[in-house]
Amino acid sequence: MSNKTLAIIKPDAVKKNLVGQIITKITEAGFKVKAVKMTKLTVDSAGGFYEVHKERPFFNDLVEFMTSGPCVPIALEKENAVADFRKLIGATDPAQADEGTIRKLFADSKAENAVHGSDSDENAAIEIAHFFTRKELLENYPN
Ligand code: ATP
Ligand code: MG
Repeated sequence: MSNKTLAIIKPDAVKKNLVGQIITKITEAGFKVKAVKMTKLTVDSAGGFYEVHKERPFFNDLVEFMTSGPCVPIALEKENAVADFRKLIGATDPAQADEGTIRKLFADSKAENAVHGSDSDENAAIEIAHFFTRKELLENYPN
């Protein structure tokens, strides 16, 4: 079991000025912020990040949404990080998310659902490397 996961505060939540409130929820749940930045994804970068979904009917809308404004990727650390973070954010569709989850609190729809969370340890490592250099991770948080 790995102890790392990648979160993204998506463009809808950044536009709604929810960055602070969402990071507070994340740290109150016991996650440590290892690296964080604000960045506007290009079509290539967003398409590469969600490549597993490229044959899905919603893929073009997903890329358009993820490039519609800045987002905030965050490398997180906690024991059982991937599963615990997925639990904290709730179901993909906020209408089906449990009470108190980040998507239930802050998301508007299945497409614009406020946050991303890695779905496996293997993808967490790939996704952290998508946004952060080794140097950034080590300089910010050597332990
Ligand atoms: P994420 O990977 O962003 O954490 P997830 O793992 O809960 O979300 P996925 O199935 O990986 O859900 O879908 C990736 C993203 O694609 C969703 O978060 C959502 O923004 C969008 N998406 C998924 N299904 C749909 C759909 N049916 N219609 C529109 N958008 C969708
Ligand atoms: Mg996913």
